[in-house]
Amino acid sequence: MRKMATVRRIVEIKVIPNADKICAYRVDGWWVVDSVGKYSVDDLVVYLETDSWVPSALAPFLSKNQEPRVYEGVSGERLRTVRLRKQISQGLLLDRFTVLDKVGEITEGQDVSELLGIVKYEPPVNSQLAGMVKGLFPDKIPKTDQERVQNLTEEIQAAVGMQFELTEKLEGASMTCYMIDGEFGVCTRNLDLKPDANNTPWAVAQRDDVEGKMRAVDEHWSWAIQGELIGPGIQGNIYKLQKPQFCVFDVYDIQTSEYLQPAARRALIERMGLTHVPVIDEDLVLAPGVHTQLETAEGKSQLNPLQEREGIVFKSVKGGMTFKAISNSYLLGEKS
Ligand code: AMP
Ligand code: MN
Repeated sequence: MRKMATVRRIVEIKVIPNADKICAYRVDGWWVVDSVGKYSVDDLVVYLETDSWVPSALAPFLSKNQEPRVYEGVSGERLRTVRLRKQISQGLLLDRFTVLDKVGEITEGQDVSELLGIVKYEPPVNSQLAGMVKGLFPDKIPKTDQERVQNLTEEIQAAVGMQFELTEKLEGASMTCYMIDGEFGVCTRNLDLKPDANNTPWAVAQRDDVEGKMRAVDEHWSWAIQGELIGPGIQGNIYKLQKPQFCVFDVYDIQTSEYLQPAARRALIERMGLTHVPVIDEDLVLAPGVHTQLETAEGKSQLNPLQEREGIVFKSVKGGMTFKAISNSYLLGEKS
């Protein structure tokens, strides 16, 4: 479970030109616009990340004068990226008094998501994606997820000079194909699905003969291929594709509990005749500053030059560290 609400410290305050009532506060790599004078540097605050579903009971002002919306039975609002007087604002800050009755005294680093009833908003799953369930996602395979660069200010500093593979982050649905002890399976983000030609992930796996291609690599290997499923009916199909496509971003060796390193993964996927997510750089030397990675994230999609890309996923070429930088232009243009 991602930590959506955590206790952090204000580390920097920025004046917003031509605005005297609001300013920007920084926690780790995130900037949040709020009233001038509300916080000082070093104050402990509760920070709610973008995509938090925030109950109205906690922050009624988020609904402005409108009826709150409902998600998973809780009325509230989703936190989005906004721009106020040209300043990007992401997430929400709450002072310790607002959370006192639910959390008590706060301590730095504390995860208060559960205490405050905050969950990550996930867009509704399309019916063609939701197939018949065979079981839960296999626990031998890590679920696909990426930490946001804004949460890794210290780690980024420590990784300056290291080489990273940069791939385009695609907006779709997570899909995993596995071979475990000779049994082939297809999963969505959280579920293992029964074979079904009406279910898009299975239909695509069968169309592309992922099973045959995996068996041809090594009949006795237990491993998984993970990627993003994009196309008609999946999220907004922002690439305007005519057919669904499975774009691979990871290969996981279940026997050694390790991901293949980027170069080995790319070579294997090419040899198998599967599609890889677009590669933006094979060995970028990481420069300092979260803002640098955020600037790199901006750009058009390699799949559709009219579309802002969602962002970039950075993976250390030696394996280990990975993170995502989402394009602010994409976030500000996001609909729905
Ligand atoms: P999010 O979409 O914000 O939940 O970010 C994590 C997800 O990005 C992963 O679970 C993947 O499904 C997806 N993703 C899309 N493109 C890539 C990529 N190039 N590398 C890794 N993950 C990706
Ligand atoms: Mn996504």
